[in-house]
Amino acid sequence: MSTAGFNSQNGTGTGQTYTNGPSQNPVALQQPPGVGYGMNHQPAYNPMQAKVLGPPNPALYASGPHQPVPPGPQLGSYPPPPAQPLLTRPQIGVLPSHTPPQSASPGPGPRQAQATPPAQATPPPPAVTSTSYYTGPPAWQYAAPRGPAPNHVNPAAAAPSHSSAQPPGPGAPPTSIHGYPQPGTAPPPMNPPPPHTYQPNRPAYGPPPTAPPARPPGATGTPPPPKVDAQCWGAASSARPPTEPDTQEGDVECPGDVAGNGPQAPNSYNHVDNRMAGAAQPGPPGRHLGHYPSLPPGYQNTLAPPPSSLHPALQAATQPYTQGPQPYQQQPGGPGPDQLSPSMAAMSLQSGTPEALRVVNLLQERNLLPPAPVPAPTPCLTQDLQKLNCSPEVFRCTLTSIPQTQSLLNKAKLPLGLLLHPFKDLSLPVVTSSTIVRCRSCRTYINPFVSFLDQRRWKCNLCYRVNDVPEEFMYNPVSRSYGEPHKRPEVQNATIEFIAPSEYMLRPPQPAVYLFVLDVSHNAVETGYLSVFCQSLLDNINALPGDSRTKVGFITFDSTIHFYNLQEGLSQPQMLIVSDIEDIFLPTPDSLLVNLNECKELVQDLLKSLPNLFEKTMETQSALGSALQAAFKLLSPTGGRMSVFQTQLPNLGVGALQSREDPNQRASAKDVQHLSPATDFYKKLALDCSGQQVAVDLFLLSAQYCDLASLGCISRFSAGSVYYYPSYHHQHNPAQVERFQRDLKRYLTRKIGFEAVMRIRCTKGLSIHTFHGNFFVRSTDLLSLPNVNPDAGFAVQMSIEENLDDMQVVSFQAALLYTSSKGERRIRVHTMCLPVVSSLSDVFAGADVQAVTGLLACMAVDRSVTSSLSDARDAMTNAAIDSLSSYRQSALTIQQPGLLAPACLRLFPLYILALLKQKAFRTGTSTRLDERVFAMYQLKYQPLAFAMLMIHPALYRLDDLSDEGALNINERTIPQPRVLQLSVEKLSREGAFLMDAGLVMYLWIGRNCHQNFLSQVLGVSSYAAVPEKLCLLPELDTAESQRTRALVSWLRDQRPFFPSLHIIRDESQLKPHFMQNMIEDRTESALSYYEFLLHLQQQISK
Ligand SMILES: [Zn+2]
Repeated sequence: MSTAGFNSQNGTGTGQTYTNGPSQNPVALQQPPGVGYGMNHQPAYNPMQAKVLGPPNPALYASGPHQPVPPGPQLGSYPPPPAQPLLTRPQIGVLPSHTPPQSASPGPGPRQAQATPPAQATPPPPAVTSTSYYTGPPAWQYAAPRGPAPNHVNPAAAAPSHSSAQPPGPGAPPTSIHGYPQPGTAPPPMNPPPPHTYQPNRPAYGPPPTAPPARPPGATGTPPPPKVDAQCWGAASSARPPTEPDTQEGDVECPGDVAGNGPQAPNSYNHVDNRMAGAAQPGPPGRHLGHYPSLPPGYQNTLAPPPSSLHPALQAATQPYTQGPQPYQQQPGGPGPDQLSPSMAAMSLQSGTPEALRVVNLLQERNLLPPAPVPAPTPCLTQDLQKLNCSPEVFRCTLTSIPQTQSLLNKAKLPLGLLLHPFKDLSLPVVTSSTIVRCRSCRTYINPFVSFLDQRRWKCNLCYRVNDVPEEFMYNPVSRSYGEPHKRPEVQNATIEFIAPSEYMLRPPQPAVYLFVLDVSHNAVETGYLSVFCQSLLDNINALPGDSRTKVGFITFDSTIHFYNLQEGLSQPQMLIVSDIEDIFLPTPDSLLVNLNECKELVQDLLKSLPNLFEKTMETQSALGSALQAAFKLLSPTGGRMSVFQTQLPNLGVGALQSREDPNQRASAKDVQHLSPATDFYKKLALDCSGQQVAVDLFLLSAQYCDLASLGCISRFSAGSVYYYPSYHHQHNPAQVERFQRDLKRYLTRKIGFEAVMRIRCTKGLSIHTFHGNFFVRSTDLLSLPNVNPDAGFAVQMSIEENLDDMQVVSFQAALLYTSSKGERRIRVHTMCLPVVSSLSDVFAGADVQAVTGLLACMAVDRSVTSSLSDARDAMTNAAIDSLSSYRQSALTIQQPGLLAPACLRLFPLYILALLKQKAFRTGTSTRLDERVFAMYQLKYQPLAFAMLMIHPALYRLDDLSDEGALNINERTIPQPRVLQLSVEKLSREGAFLMDAGLVMYLWIGRNCHQNFLSQVLGVSSYAAVPEKLCLLPELDTAESQRTRALVSWLRDQRPFFPSLHIIRDESQLKPHFMQNMIEDRTESALSYYEFLLHLQQQISK
């Protein structure tokens, strides 16, 4: 357990492999190894630094309190999963049936590919030039003073650009002035609430009144009148070019890798049956827990506390994460909401303590879960500011009160970072304006948290420079009046989108280009995925985001690479086979990516015939690497999206991999191996792709080990997505098939942004140093996102470089510049404002336990790869120990016995334990390597709300659903059952329980389940009649059925992916998976929640 953890993960220090994403530090390239990035002067608290503490050892605690696990060989011995022939499949045949491979590699002359349907010699169409697809009006020049032109789009063309991040503007920012107008010095007219709420959905504001705003001198084109309209996603039709001055690109290498390992076999949980027999009553009194004391009374109470004992904010929270923040409940006598940063410092434990700081003895208070999903805390800001603040769905900080100094942050022992969901599907205001107002010094976009010194000057809230208000900005399109710059939509909306003028473009905006790369080996055909894919694309082909310029192309591969000439004028698609996979070339480069509108019929023909084309193939080899190289060549000139479907370990040519998973070693190995990639081929190719604005999305459908740790790099560094369907089979696994279909539909039709970059800025004094997610860091703080999708999350870590003494608030701004599928260059800007506090209590009071957990999960993934899984696990445990120790020692004024936590962190130990039991980090023998690696990807890439479901699933009782407290959405009644603790204690044989674990849901039916539920919801006459593999709720015309289906589909609608539903009986094969999520219970390799608390207490009191 080294203590170098974070630094190495940050790209410096000792780590060679970086974990996911750009957890890299570009600066490292300019620094000697070992120099911490940006934190040299003050070592930041690194919660992931493992202490040399004994990890909790389940063996110490002989019998868990909650779940007596009979020790016995059957617990440790997991039967191998049925029907999982790992690895090598028998050679099926040698000859590919569809084509005689051409083994001799063509000479240096013009090479040829074989065309199956006799190729009618089509003269190659004129080469596509970089501009030929640009159909919009000529980019109009606009001579506004700007920062240096960005050139993030085409690095090749823009080689000389340098990565000067944030050019210092003329005139140093007045550092002595701070962000908020001090009373007396400046008029306070910052952002008074607008007369009426700005409505993002209202139709476009009309043209300005008769007197148009004065045009800035020098504007040569005809800038459109300022106009604001609102669009859900999407795009207007006028093509305008892209790029952000914001985005000087840097050429910095960003390493990173994820890791994971461990197959998954169902474990035997028969012991739960024993437990279940007595589940109706509380556990027998006086059970002992090893050398720990017997359970305190509070722990034997399995009943939830009456709602009245819950925090009002939690009671009020009946909405899942999609809701906005619940207003924080101030104690009546507490600081008024109108004070800036109400000081909670002088709290005493007797009175006036904010609810967030209510002391909770975790060993005594058992029922800590709120009845509904945990809401995000609301920062302590004035109502005016809070009303304008960014939604926590988009932007969250681990600490909603920012510590004044790094040393204060270090004391709190909590990680400081941001979690973002920047491209979330939102209804947001869109501004078309020839002038995008930004700080001349730091390039921050004007936002609700700047201050206006007077009508003509505004002060930047990030660097404090005073800027002029441009003439055009004086006109307010909302009120259609002049002289109210503070009422402009840019200053009234923390989330806003601009249609960017031409200086934000380095080249004409690219068209939407989609290339599909399909595995057609024998293995692939066996799974049956190809017909599902083809049908899905046929069904959705008109819904692909794009415009008249949209292009598509297809490549299939097994041991050879097959291209498809779809050029207009052909009577049928023409397949061209390239068998020289060592030196891949494009047979007819100009006719492989075709205009979708012009060639739609040929494309449809191809999709209809593809599944049959390879029906009888015997080719078992997979030259994935060469196929990817070919696809890269094809997409390089334009950029675009590459969708790769792979069903096996690539075993031929470049990028070939070997199996690294040995199930037999899972039990014996001390740590999980092979979490990092076996080759850098996929990462290098991903970086090439990133440089050409190509993102690669990977769909992995396989029953076998595919080395996702290596393959996944292709998506991770190119800002792609990874989808994984273990054990996919069109007949044997209907649940996976449905999931794949639903996911595909979403994937094909969801919004997409091309050639994107994102920069995150924060108030001077704060510094961002580590990034998590799928992307490549181009310069110190510029994330390169060849594609951006609405389902991607990001996280960053921060440190406090300079004391924030004089500041009452700080701000964070994420700017995402992208090209819409309609060819518009757009900039989406989110700005969040948070208070600064000076006392440790206030820091604790503002902790956002879910954000902290989400960030720690990202950090732990990095740590697992750069160091080891056990190291990461220790570090997570220590994060809980350290923060609670610090709270006890420094923030509590009255000491009392027990394991104490502030109410806002009361779920922290539970979430940490949940992480330790999560697929990504758990020990034991049941986790397959690819599934572990996939879970790690998910933790880093999922927006927080979905990551939390993976970490701590929600459990509901379904057999007694009622309409009490139900939501009513579109005239549908959605029951809102209470969220239950994840413990078998909460189950009952008479009931039916739904577990929502994010990507998967289980509906567990108790052995003695009420007849009513069986017949009215499942449509069966008895428990025994529940089918073994049921994954659909029958549509019965009963109130019970409607309620149940309404709840399940509503839960599904909350997320962008489709969770499969497994309806399982008590003896189902899947029951172990269900039981593994019972986080509060003891398992063969992990502590129960109560044991874990005792472990924490022991460490804290050391
Ligand atoms: Zn500034």
